[in-house]
Amino acid sequence: MDKLVRALMAEDTVKLIAISGREICETARELHGLSRVCTAALGRTLLVTDMMGAQLKGEDHKLTAIVKGGGPAGNIVCTADNQGHVKGYIEVPDLELPLGPDGKLDVSMAVGWFGDLTVVRDLGMKEPYVGKCDIVSGEIAEDFAQYFTVSEQQPSMVYLGVRVDPHDGHVLAGGGLIVQPLPHCPDEVIDTLTEKAAMVKMLAGMLEEGMELEDAIRKIFDGIDINFTENLTPEFRCDCSRERLERVLISLGEEELKDMMEKEKGAELTCHFCNKTYSFTEAQLSDLLVEAGKA
Ligand SMILES: [Zn+2]
Repeated sequence: MDKLVRALMAEDTVKLIAISGREICETARELHGLSRVCTAALGRTLLVTDMMGAQLKGEDHKLTAIVKGGGPAGNIVCTADNQGHVKGYIEVPDLELPLGPDGKLDVSMAVGWFGDLTVVRDLGMKEPYVGKCDIVSGEIAEDFAQYFTVSEQQPSMVYLGVRVDPHDGHVLAGGGLIVQPLPHCPDEVIDTLTEKAAMVKMLAGMLEEGMELEDAIRKIFDGIDINFTENLTPEFRCDCSRERLERVLISLGEEELKDMMEKEKGAELTCHFCNKTYSFTEAQLSDLLVEAGKA
């Protein structure tokens, strides 16, 4: 089962958040018919968005990450809340690319590195909080590390790994980790963390071997004290509903609705995030037209 944990390390001078998210990535693959490289690209973004969402304070708060790298896979959009629920899509889900020079899935080539990464925090206020930075590599983890440093002045170690079966494309493991030294963190602790970088890259492999997330974290950061403070069960979950789409249709206004009734004799809407299709007959649109007239 997927898991998300938060912890304090090195005598409470470092924050850690980590995720084991094989099922999140596999659900995304099934819903969107993702190619192997897109499973890795969207999977990584879902994992990091879910971890960032878990740091939100309120239950109605939402965090959305938009990766616009300019590559052939198109944009990636993921949204998470603070209970571990995450949803997301990639514009060209079936993109196939040859393996990269290192024999691995070429996420960087699919995502591109010519655009920007935007993070929108909707904290229930009038205006959402928006942060932005340039994309540096299209590998996702590096781009989010850049985002934390540039946009939030919070230097962070970010690791994201999605292991995909080379034959049938199933997700074998998904692991992610964000390590953030707090302002009072001593330099020698930061040096020790930096030395662990090579071990951090083994997280997805450890999870694939069946290791528990906490055990993998303890192994990676061997020699540093870790105090796990919270854990929850993350999940790919879309919150779309017929009622929500009815409100979208009403908000289009009378002219647009009349147009749909006359030209299309109904409407068929597909949710970007989960691919679920909602059909509206001419009669149902006519009811919504009445609602739109009242608005
Ligand atoms: Zn949906």
